[in-house]
Amino acid sequence: MGKRILIVGGVAGGASVAARVRRLDESAEIIMFEKGPHVSFSNCCLPNHLSGMIEDSEDLVLMNPQKFKKQYNIEVRVNHEVIKIYRDKKTVLVRDLIMGEEYEEKYDKLVLSPGAKPIIPDIEGCDKPHVFTIRNVVDIDKLNRYVKSGKVKDIAVIGGGFIGVEVAENLQLANAGFNITLVEAADQIMTSFDYDMAQILHKEMIDNGINLIVGDGIAKIADDYIELVSGKQIPAQAVVMAIGVKPETKLAEEAGLEIGETGGIKVDHNYLTSDKDIYAVGDAIEVYHKLTHTKTRLPLAGPAQRQARAAADHMYGIPHRNTGVIGSLCVKLFDINAAATGLTEKAAKKAGIQYDFVYIIPGDIVGIMPDNSPFHFKLIYEVPTGKILGAQAIGKGNVTKRIDVIATMIMMGGTLEDLKELELCYAPAFNTAKDPVNMAALVGLNILNGVFKQVPVYKVRELVENNAVIIDVRERHEYEAGHLINAINIPLSELRERVSEIPKDVPVYLHCRSSQRSYYAIMALQNMGFKNLYNISGSFLGICLYEYYNDKVTDRKKIVTKYNFR
Ligand code: FAD
Repeated sequence: MGKRILIVGGVAGGASVAARVRRLDESAEIIMFEKGPHVSFSNCCLPNHLSGMIEDSEDLVLMNPQKFKKQYNIEVRVNHEVIKIYRDKKTVLVRDLIMGEEYEEKYDKLVLSPGAKPIIPDIEGCDKPHVFTIRNVVDIDKLNRYVKSGKVKDIAVIGGGFIGVEVAENLQLANAGFNITLVEAADQIMTSFDYDMAQILHKEMIDNGINLIVGDGIAKIADDYIELVSGKQIPAQAVVMAIGVKPETKLAEEAGLEIGETGGIKVDHNYLTSDKDIYAVGDAIEVYHKLTHTKTRLPLAGPAQRQARAAADHMYGIPHRNTGVIGSLCVKLFDINAAATGLTEKAAKKAGIQYDFVYIIPGDIVGIMPDNSPFHFKLIYEVPTGKILGAQAIGKGNVTKRIDVIATMIMMGGTLEDLKELELCYAPAFNTAKDPVNMAALVGLNILNGVFKQVPVYKVRELVENNAVIIDVRERHEYEAGHLINAINIPLSELRERVSEIPKDVPVYLHCRSSQRSYYAIMALQNMGFKNLYNISGSFLGICLYEYYNDKVTDRKKIVTKYNFR
């Protein structure tokens, strides 16, 4: 008889451990307990049921207990909750949630993959029947039926993380005439992106009819409206709570297993808990961040599956190199795609890492090809080493490819020099001969080496308000179609004849559409002896996107005569 392996939780982490153990050991007795009615469902596709992209909720379930038994000889007990671990006897107490019976099972090795549960704030009305959370197929089915029952016109989604954002998007794509409000207490949605990049996401939300409210939290839920901390009331006959998740640690805590400083189950580099016969993986654990060298939590499917494989391997003496996590994720939002990896500017600052960044907006494919579109790319690197720390990409094209390249670079300890030399495939339909990631490295090296100086888009309003000298080097027709209210237009094509108009005794800020022509202008002027020049990174396109959402939702004065998003 082989090892007896019990697994708590039957989705991303749990099912992956079970499958890997079976591949390693045909004689193992594997029993997986899942308190819900389904195992191995696609959490990540749950929101897509709301839009009808995945029409039948049963399609969200990828495997069932019968298939697990037949194909892998793994015993799956759904509707069975593990309610206690007796470490001294090496048994668990299981409750059959249908029959109401309890029984004990013995283990040689126990694996905990109980996931994380949605956080419910302690506010009035949270227990009302029209308040929903999304964790599994039952939840999404319930929400979908409720909002489509004819009783609901206004829906409030609380929380602008990827689950809230995807739920809001899919409800809007359902074309059911809902008024959807997304409320986020922080000043931006999707905190894996910096504030400047998040403004592009904010624009996409409001342009697609979502009423986006940031910087305001929920205070109360009534029967057909919600009230925010500001006192604002928003009609809502359905409310989706997506303000974050909390690791499921009750079982582990009660068994006396150590809990880490971040609130997740503490594990070693092989995913062993403080008990040498109990492993833990997935959303319930805390992990090591490769870049900040701190403990963190990363509730994502990819890490859960990798941890599951590593834990199973360790049971069978197969070595595993724990590299730590960097946090890579992507999201689709209406017509745009967004992806990020590693550290944001904000995270680098918080970690006390000296950094700088580049923000470039090349075309995602060759400009004369149909469907080309601007590609917003922000790359963060360490100063003075040039070590790559993180990146964020937003655009209509293939953002994940670029972020995956950067994630690979980070995992390999790559620098701007490595990225500059990285040989990537090219054809006009896919990218540009110098891929945006190569381009970002070149700009980064220029900045690191002091070839030119830059200011970010988020400083431009201050420059405009302080009447700084700003030169727009786009051609006249571009300037006339919309420009910064106090920018002087000296097109690159007229620069050399009009150089006397540019002052030398004060800082001069240059921009074009995307910062490339303004860089050429700066290089020309520096070669003529100018010193106090700054390129506005992101330039007019970046400025318009950065300013748009806040212009729309406040009554502040606009700093552009007209927006231009092309
Ligand atoms: P889970 O997959 O949540 O599985 C835990 C299971 O354990 C649950 O089914 C639970 O019922 C069961 N359980 C808990 N306690 C017990 C007990 N005592 N006894 C028996 N069973 C128990 N990640 C991405 O990387 N990309 C995405 O696009 C993405 N989209 C998502 C969208 C949504 C709506 C959600 C909810 C999550 C999404 N995630 C995404 C996150 C991803 O699904 C999780 O990180 C991953 O599923 C974690 O795996 P896990 O095994 O730790 O937990």
